[in-house]
Amino acid sequence: MPNRLPPGKVPWDIVAELVSGELPPEVVLGPAAGEDAALVEIGGELWAVASDPVSFTATDAGRLAVIVNANDVAVRGARPRFFLAVGLIAPHEATEERVRELLSQVRDTCAEVGAVLIGGHTEVTPGLPHSIVVGTMLGRVEGEPVTTGGLREGDLVGMTRSAGLEGTTILLNELGGRLRALHGDEVLEGADEILGGDWLLVAPEALQAAACHGVTALHDVTEGGVGEALYEMARASGVGIDVEKSAIPVLPATATVCGDLGLDPLGLIGSGSLIVGGDPDDAAEIETVFSASGIPFTWIGHAVAADEGSRTTVPRFPRDELIKTTMMRGIEAVIFDMDGTLVDSSYDWPTIRRRLGVTGASIIDDLNGLPEPDRSRRWAELEAIEATATAQATIHEGVHELIEVLAEHHLSNALVTNNSDANVRRLLDRFGLHFDVIVNRDSGLWKPSGAPVKEAVRQLGVVPGRCLGVGDSHYDILAAREAELGGVCVLHDGAGRHDREADLSFEDIPRFIRYLNIVLE
Ligand SMILES: [Mg+2]
Repeated sequence: MPNRLPPGKVPWDIVAELVSGELPPEVVLGPAAGEDAALVEIGGELWAVASDPVSFTATDAGRLAVIVNANDVAVRGARPRFFLAVGLIAPHEATEERVRELLSQVRDTCAEVGAVLIGGHTEVTPGLPHSIVVGTMLGRVEGEPVTTGGLREGDLVGMTRSAGLEGTTILLNELGGRLRALHGDEVLEGADEILGGDWLLVAPEALQAAACHGVTALHDVTEGGVGEALYEMARASGVGIDVEKSAIPVLPATATVCGDLGLDPLGLIGSGSLIVGGDPDDAAEIETVFSASGIPFTWIGHAVAADEGSRTTVPRFPRDELIKTTMMRGIEAVIFDMDGTLVDSSYDWPTIRRRLGVTGASIIDDLNGLPEPDRSRRWAELEAIEATATAQATIHEGVHELIEVLAEHHLSNALVTNNSDANVRRLLDRFGLHFDVIVNRDSGLWKPSGAPVKEAVRQLGVVPGRCLGVGDSHYDILAAREAELGGVCVLHDGAGRHDREADLSFEDIPRFIRYLNIVLE
């Protein structure tokens, strides 16, 4: 099967292989990870060139196309000057009014940033689900160029405004009603200034910063938020960045919205914010650049020697946190693990594995592979451990409510567990739980194989991509991935241990319910 790439930026390694190579001397900066604009010498002048699409459904796609490209050249210290726009109009949007609207947005925003529209192409493109505007901006570098990769060991690292501004706006626009219902207007405290603000265009302050002698590197935050932007700057510069996480400014509205949805503000799409590298000797001068324009600016860390293992002391986010809020779209069924996920059966798996002498990935496979009489003896031992755990098991807080919320939204459910049929029945009876489909190990299928999950999907009569797996362990993630489920959520302890591998993670079921109540239609 071809290795399909997930939505979002294509991994740099794949791109690098194809775009690297000998470049003529007039190309001062060519394709490079984290560098959003090239630098070329034309007629003795240095020009920055950037190209970016606006590929989402946005009423102001024409305006955004100019802004993102103006930002990209401005962080090079280049004043936006000439703009080209390719407008690919989706057939269902192909009205004269829509085209006029897009092009006037492009023209007006160009004027706003001091650029002129010098050409492009506009067409109605069959097959497009929504319109796309691809912009290319040329800007002349006024002084010394600045790059993402200019950060040196010992430099200070700062940022303007706060983390996840753009994502907060998107979430408040899309889910504001439900968030307000949850908190009252409190959630919108400080949100007006975000929603009403004109902070997306960072070109003016980027140009001012670039002109400041002590500024060594600039990068604008976009997808993957501050975390990914810091990683990109560290990688492009060949250094590490030691960040004081608590120093990263997060607005109260952003913190509330992220808290409700289980998102990390540091990985939330964050246009409107600039990452700035600076010489410590010029720190005061750099601060003045921003304070003079009334733009909040905070030092959040400094550059250290590169450590290939981890470039930054905050996590990176190759996948933007915003994607988590769309995980439930199209989901028709939820497939639960039992032990540890719905019931707290306090299995101490590492100790049990040691006791049973299990070394392989799967306890069940290991025991089945033993010769007799060892096989029966160890199985009896495991069953005794399970019987004790089952007798002592308690139900996790919120399970009944969780099942109800899913039912209210017409989602079916299944239970896929490596426990035995007898124990499953005992627990479900005791806790009054019912599932549309149950697959336990007596079926002859068990995790971490995807087979029991596939069997549950088959019995549910749905498409795997329309199911969400919910578990607490690495087994659950492996099984869900192999069964090609639409997503996997880890709960409880698993959230702390596996949150980077899962699509969603919550410390407890009430938090998962809160998320579902906001995102489910
Ligand atoms: Mg479990």
